[in-house]
Amino acid sequence: MLQSHLFYKTSRDKLAGVESVSHDLLVRAGFVDQLMAGVYTFLPLGIRVLKNIENIIRQNMSANPANGQEVLMPVLQPKENWQKTGRWESLDVLFKIKGNGDKEYALGPTHEEVVSPLAKKNIFSYKDLPIALFQIQTKFRDELRAKSGILRTREFLMKDLYSFHSTQEDLDKYYEKMLKVYFNIFKECGVYKGGKNPMTYRTLSSGGSFSKYSDEFQTITEAGEDIIYVCKKCQLAVNKEIKLENSVCPNCKGSESEEKKAVEVGNIFKLGTKYSLPFDLKFKDKDGTEKPVIMGCFGIGLGRLMGTIVEVNHDEKGIIWPKSVAPFLVHLIGVQDNKKIKTAAEKIYNILQKEKIEVLYDDRQDKSAGEKFAEADLIGIPYRIIVSEKTLKNNAVEVKERDKNTVKLVKINQLLKIIHV
Ligand SMILES: [Zn+2]
Repeated sequence: MLQSHLFYKTSRDKLAGVESVSHDLLVRAGFVDQLMAGVYTFLPLGIRVLKNIENIIRQNMSANPANGQEVLMPVLQPKENWQKTGRWESLDVLFKIKGNGDKEYALGPTHEEVVSPLAKKNIFSYKDLPIALFQIQTKFRDELRAKSGILRTREFLMKDLYSFHSTQEDLDKYYEKMLKVYFNIFKECGVYKGGKNPMTYRTLSSGGSFSKYSDEFQTITEAGEDIIYVCKKCQLAVNKEIKLENSVCPNCKGSESEEKKAVEVGNIFKLGTKYSLPFDLKFKDKDGTEKPVIMGCFGIGLGRLMGTIVEVNHDEKGIIWPKSVAPFLVHLIGVQDNKKIKTAAEKIYNILQKEKIEVLYDDRQDKSAGEKFAEADLIGIPYRIIVSEKTLKNNAVEVKERDKNTVKLVKINQLLKIIHV
């Protein structure tokens, strides 16, 4: 992609009144644009990151052991389904809209009210179970506190997977496997690294009516709106909303914990029969008796995850994208306005493109080297390749990785050996 054609504008000055680093950087570097409170456009740079995150999630949801099958359910949903579960009245963030003739609809904030009656049309016997359906789709929540940029929005892309089981034991087993799948996703996206400071913690939260706890995945950041307590011994965290005075860790019985601010990047629930009962979702078991289907629900907000990646991967100059989600792998920059450099840079651009390496080529003639470098740091592409008079004298280019301070002089014919996807 030629940078002279890219639809974006960057800004050097920090935004006034924003509450998170990710909000400031993503807007200033030209990844997102705010339409109104909690509603954002993803610009060309932003959509590339979002698609990379989407692909990581999709792969993990489709593969063993998640074994999800992708569907796409409607945003527009009938009021009757929401009345059946009582959530037309009880869910305060539900967007309700009126159509012709005053007929009312919900804009889906989650999809139990659609997926449960859908499952009923296809699940009849124990032989039809277990099964898992997922989608990556836009959701709506009428958040009163829409702030912190894309960390908390009113319209957002979400992956939600619903699992259906014949027994509680089968759900329990699947749930344990999904905990690992989730950590794998967060690791691939650069917000989980294991060890003593994993960045993202399994966090017990209130479980609702069918299990003692649900699990959240909380990433430590100052921009976070949640307070969690991390057990110093086993690293299991507990959300403030369920933390009891002088409580001990439910896992290891340790009594020392550390208070941290965090943002929730995913959550998983054992729904049990909460939604299968109102929709009469049953199956015929081996012994011929009819039983309600046992359900689980597994969510990840993609925009929020993107914001969180920036929260934990940046410095004072800008974003430091992990390679797995970066908008481009290479930022190619020609530093002087002359034909020799342009020809050399174009040659490198073609070599990289031929190798299917995603390159943003700063071909602009009206920007100084300093301006180009400052902007490259702000945008945060993993490899920066600089072509200048000086480097060409050695038949080489300068290569700098965004997360390192060292600059390497690399012969042009050796370039492909040091760019790692
Ligand atoms: Zn513990």
